[in-house]
Amino acid sequence: MSDRDGLIWYDGKMVNWRDATTHVLTHTLHYGMGVFEGVRAYKTDKGTAIFRLKEHTDRLFRSAHILGMKMPYDKETISQAQLAAVRDNKLESGYLRPMAFYGAEAMGISAKTLSTHVIVAAWPWGAYLGAEALEHGIRVKTSSYSRHHVNVTMCKAKANGNYMNSIMAHREAEHDGYQEALLLDVDGFVAEGSGENVFIVRNGKLYTPDATAALEGITRDAIIQLAAEIGLQVIEKRITRDEVYTADEAFFTGTAAEVTPIRELDNRAIGTGDRGPITAKLQSMYFDCVTGKSAKHQDWLSLV
Ligand code: PMP
Repeated sequence: MSDRDGLIWYDGKMVNWRDATTHVLTHTLHYGMGVFEGVRAYKTDKGTAIFRLKEHTDRLFRSAHILGMKMPYDKETISQAQLAAVRDNKLESGYLRPMAFYGAEAMGISAKTLSTHVIVAAWPWGAYLGAEALEHGIRVKTSSYSRHHVNVTMCKAKANGNYMNSIMAHREAEHDGYQEALLLDVDGFVAEGSGENVFIVRNGKLYTPDATAALEGITRDAIIQLAAEIGLQVIEKRITRDEVYTADEAFFTGTAAEVTPIRELDNRAIGTGDRGPITAKLQSMYFDCVTGKSAKHQDWLSLV
């Protein structure tokens, strides 16, 4: 990825993609103490727009606050940096990666004297789990890795180090021939995917785990709002894996994964084993919002 044309916003300046480097003694590389976001921009009739820019920027700053990381820029600057990263790379649509990380001034756990750096990169990125996945769903396996405990790592922070757990879970699932992992919390209840929140449909109602061990997803929040608009009751509660096995429908939500149906968990078909009707409806409402086709929620879009 490092060898391509383009520009990356790096500490207040646009730098050439290949020059956006940092020292090998960068603290975050060693200990994972950093925060980031995953954001998408979509093509709309009015031009390219970033979806829920404010919410993503707010979460980045909340993550930094949780880690006690002092952000060297204000939210307005980081929002403008994201708009510029899409604009200056001439992207019609794409994925954005803002990240804040510590410098290389000192090693060790203290991290007291370190500077904080911020980058925003943006590049074209299609369907995260493939176009076929959006239409027919994916095969998922319950992970042998538990999701984070609330007092081990901070679950509300989108922190770099948290993703070691995600990568191991995803890798295990992929190795075993599945497309994604479903992680349970330390008490054995369903938490989330390696990079997605999870929903199930049972008897016409929508259920999702409360965001205790799961990230407070921005797509999750959008789906909860869209479901309410079509009179679908949404219940946040503890969910067991056998509730997923016997659900009528299930799907993942995430900026990268968008709304991806789950057609199978642990080799058991969910419902008909294909995208269900409520999933299809919410997925289409979601895509109408992100692409500006929906008159509602235009406030979720920031034109670049
Ligand atoms: N959980 C995890 C672990 C994630 O990495 C993500 C992706 N950011 C999500 C859930 C979904 O969050 P969002 O909808 O804000 O992208």
